[in-house]
Amino acid sequence: MKSPIEILKEVFGFSSFRKGQNDIIDCILKGQDVVGVMPTGAGKSLCYQIPALAMGGVSIVVSPLISLMKDQVDALRQNGVEAAALNSSMEWEETREIWGAVRRKQVSLLYVSPERFENNGFREFFATLDLRLFVIDEAHCVSQWGHDFRPSYLNLAASIGLLAKRPVVAAFTATATPEVRDDIVSKLELVDPFVLTTGFDRENLFFRVERPRDKMAFLLDYVKKFSGAPAIVYCSTKPSVDSVWDFLKREGIPAVRYHAGLGDEERRRNQEAFTRDRSPVMVATNAFGMGIDKSNVRYVLHYNMPGSIDNYYQEAGRAGRDGSFAECVLLFAPKDIVTARYLIEQSDNADNRQTSYRKLQDIIDYCNTGRCLRASILEYFGETNVKKNCTGCGNCVSVVEPVDVTTEAKKILSCVYRMKERTGRHFGSSLLIDVLRGSQREQIKALELHTISTWSLMKEYGKEELKEMVDFLAADGYLEVSDGEYPVLKFTSKALPFLRGQEKLMMRKRVKPARAQGERIQEPGNPTTEKTREASVSRELFEELRALRRELADAQNVPPYVVFTDAALYAMCETLPKTGEELLAISGVGKMKLEKYGERFLQVLRKWQP
Ligand code: ADP
Ligand code: MG
Repeated sequence: MKSPIEILKEVFGFSSFRKGQNDIIDCILKGQDVVGVMPTGAGKSLCYQIPALAMGGVSIVVSPLISLMKDQVDALRQNGVEAAALNSSMEWEETREIWGAVRRKQVSLLYVSPERFENNGFREFFATLDLRLFVIDEAHCVSQWGHDFRPSYLNLAASIGLLAKRPVVAAFTATATPEVRDDIVSKLELVDPFVLTTGFDRENLFFRVERPRDKMAFLLDYVKKFSGAPAIVYCSTKPSVDSVWDFLKREGIPAVRYHAGLGDEERRRNQEAFTRDRSPVMVATNAFGMGIDKSNVRYVLHYNMPGSIDNYYQEAGRAGRDGSFAECVLLFAPKDIVTARYLIEQSDNADNRQTSYRKLQDIIDYCNTGRCLRASILEYFGETNVKKNCTGCGNCVSVVEPVDVTTEAKKILSCVYRMKERTGRHFGSSLLIDVLRGSQREQIKALELHTISTWSLMKEYGKEELKEMVDFLAADGYLEVSDGEYPVLKFTSKALPFLRGQEKLMMRKRVKPARAQGERIQEPGNPTTEKTREASVSRELFEELRALRRELADAQNVPPYVVFTDAALYAMCETLPKTGEELLAISGVGKMKLEKYGERFLQVLRKWQP
């Protein structure tokens, strides 16, 4: 039996394990059930593929989407691993062939959709198998608390019971919440599982929030800076996808779009153009993405604010799965809040609405905070001991000027307090701001708010300016915004000691937007970042390798990134390997790929030898 590290090197061409992989693999090989909770792009697939190969025989992997299975099977075959996928859309002929191959032990990993287990024929076939490992990928689908509940996941435990001997059961997900984790253990009937949760940080992702006056202009500028790099632009509605897509086309940017209003055929075609690197920019609603394993997405730009941090992190997390540098940008405008509220009204049942409003407020706070964006996200997911300052988010690297807002904050908070005292009620920010600015509007008079001591206390401030400070106080926890259709501001336990105390409050006012990635390429120093690495290699060589990769991928009808990842191409540009052995040293080049593609790539690389 080959050791895991040998398989990692020879089959997959990687030199070392990533965080958590080794522990999970060891556990499976010892025969214990596992739950692996690791963020997108962390490398969950290898956690079960390597033990499957080490143990020999056939292992089953349940996966929720045909496109996901196809990607995995393509990628495994590229590395010389026998893999196959079964789903309900297949012809009987094809299904029978695969069954035959499995019986003849010619398949190491068999990917199966959960619905297959509802088919009697398949269950009979399955019951005869001698399985050592049963894997459930995207295991959060078993939980109603998760975002992708799939009822057929609930039958999996019973199906495992059909086998003469129970295999090791391993479940994987990127969803971190405790409810979902508990559901995975109980609904899949795992036996004394080893549960491994790695941190949720994605170190190669750079986070930014921008408030451009003209979103279209910002977008265009951005797309041009990243010229040709694969990107997803998320919009919150179908019409907004159409208008952004239309705009980019008119500006001569090759872009495709995706939303539920398009026909199946067009969606399929557009998705393929994107995954096959023919069209770099995908403009889409959140209907796009689940099951897209494209590893070289260089940035995810949210043209509108999404409905929650959960959604945001999931969507933004589609950037940089290959571990190379990638950006996540959120373009915020107050109008996005209106749209988000409208979407909640339209889609949720009344029970869920309260939760949706609370989650909406969390993402609004994310947009308004001056704190580290990465820390805000990680803390939202319950991570503790988060570093307060990263070097990978707009708030930490932008040029900000700390402004002392202690006096202003005290005035605002006192006003919230006085308004409540006078009326016994809480109000939203626009009434608060009007009171502070000394408005005489009817509602204010009717409530006698023009008689409280804080009325007109800040009449010299503009509405926008006050709004910014109120949002800041909410984002930093001095005010709490209630859930519900008409959100109101409330005092928090943090506000009172601040009002009475001597503590100073600084607001980080951005004087200059964080520099865009494109500009940073020229920046000297910081040699460890992927981006500088990329900049130092010849763009021309990279493009030549990329073209070769596409040619080879197209000839086999597979996505280019299963041939080689971007990171592998960068490494080739950087080290300019001359021999097969040198090529093998590059991360992502295993024995099989060397044999299949080595000579073609070396031909190109030799031309560039100094
Ligand atoms: P996940 O399922 O956790 O989202 P994947 O299993 O799809 O992530 O892996 C993401 C990427 O990371 C893939 O391109 C994979 O080849 C790469 N990868 C995984 N493990 C390693 C490793 N030990 N060294 C280098 N690259 C790795
Ligand atoms: Mg995965």
